[in-house]
Amino acid sequence: PNARGIDLSDLRQLTQLSETMAEAASQSWQAGPLIGGQLPKRAADALAGDQAEAVRNPAHNDQIVGHVALADDDDVEAALATTHDAAPRWASTPAAERAACLRRYADLLESHLGELIAICTREAGKNVADGVAEVREAVDFCRYYAVQVEDEFATDHVLPGPTGERNTYGLYGRGVFVAICPWNFPLAIFSGQVAAALAAGNAVIAKPAEQTCLVGSRAIELMHEAGFPGDVLAFLPGAGDIGAKLVADSRIAGVAFTGSLATAKKINLTLAERDGPIIPLIAETGGQNAMIVDSSALIEQVVADIIRSGFQSAGQRCSALRVLYVQADIADTLIEMLSGAMAELSVGDPWNLGTDVTPVIDAEARDNLAAYAEYADQTFKAHYTCELGEAHTNGTYIAPRIYELDSISQLGDEQFGPIVHIIRFKADEIDRVVDDINGLGYGLTFGIHSRIDTTVERVLKRLKVGNAYVNRNIIGAVVGVHPFGGEGLSGTGPKAGGPHYLHRFATERAVSRDT
Ligand code: GLU
Repeated sequence: PNARGIDLSDLRQLTQLSETMAEAASQSWQAGPLIGGQLPKRAADALAGDQAEAVRNPAHNDQIVGHVALADDDDVEAALATTHDAAPRWASTPAAERAACLRRYADLLESHLGELIAICTREAGKNVADGVAEVREAVDFCRYYAVQVEDEFATDHVLPGPTGERNTYGLYGRGVFVAICPWNFPLAIFSGQVAAALAAGNAVIAKPAEQTCLVGSRAIELMHEAGFPGDVLAFLPGAGDIGAKLVADSRIAGVAFTGSLATAKKINLTLAERDGPIIPLIAETGGQNAMIVDSSALIEQVVADIIRSGFQSAGQRCSALRVLYVQADIADTLIEMLSGAMAELSVGDPWNLGTDVTPVIDAEARDNLAAYAEYADQTFKAHYTCELGEAHTNGTYIAPRIYELDSISQLGDEQFGPIVHIIRFKADEIDRVVDDINGLGYGLTFGIHSRIDTTVERVLKRLKVGNAYVNRNIIGAVVGVHPFGGEGLSGTGPKAGGPHYLHRFATERAVSRDT
């Protein structure tokens, strides 16, 4: 069963959570490289002195929430050497023991819920509901992979063959996996990538996004506490150059990456050109996720689903809605109702329970989105605009926006924030609309709102997409329930939280014995 999390509408649970979060809020967190379970001396000195990087709260840029000692080249080398030595030992650790570590980590995540939400809020600008979802998803990944590793990795599977021949097939760890993780799910996706690699029997070097080293560091500490050995799991906080060095090294045996398409392509190139074996890259990148709404849809529900899909987490989900196709007959009504609903959104401090739209991750993200909005204001029809007040100047806020385009050809690169584009279509154009969406080359999430079954089936058949949602919102995939991941420019697969994910982290061996 999936983790229950916290019911924020239950006053008792909410009060308890608020108390632990408040306690944690006064804390200042620290992060540094962890190699062989140890903080290297240089990093310890940096954190003790004033050499470490200050981490600022996206909602209050003057608030320092912790410090990070970034990894250097020596740390990269030490992490590679240590994990490379430890990998064979971990690969031969019984699957049941690896599964037990995953379950203990899941339990620790649940018992540290308030603290983890507090770090997600203060470092990544997550609101409380998103924080609860982070922990739940991380827990779910671990318990789901624990069952799979026991079922599929514990013993070799016996295969058929002629009399006198015994055939078996088994799954084994590959060696050292590098996990390069994103800031938008600093706990859930971080834990999912790292836990999957460890579960499959690999040693792991985890690199968090540089914006969310504190969350990543706390996750790693809990993983070590859960029993994953220090030499099997290293942590290297730092910028992209750390990831680039790791990926180029011939000692690594696989890469799990979530982030931009451009970086995924660079990693692929590096892997192709470096010395050493050909190894897997599991990449989950971006999307230009679309939703089609025809005139049979229930508009009230559509509005609620657009709000959630486009603006929850300030639109900073790979799954978030970017392009809304609305049948022309209902477009004006829908836009009016949507604008009304947007006016109700509270853009503000993630710490407040009533906040709907949180700040974006950092000033660079805010500036890029603001520059796009300025361009879009001139170029497209802006249907809804809201001015942010004084209270927002100290955080990296961006107001939610909707723009109407004449055609998909006007759509540029993915905008990773609370911006939705709207395009009208006529009833007989639906195949062309699907072709336009496919033509973007991405294929992550998609939504259709229609009460006509034949339309839904026709669209689903024509569409190339990893996760399609019918008459609902398009975010918040649940582990084991909605295995998540795209195709085309959106990722390599396999799907996280799905039945085939762990296999890609493993090597397959078949043995045929004459008996
Ligand atoms: N799994 C998340 C969802 O369904 C999105 C993950 C991502 O943004 O990478 O909303």
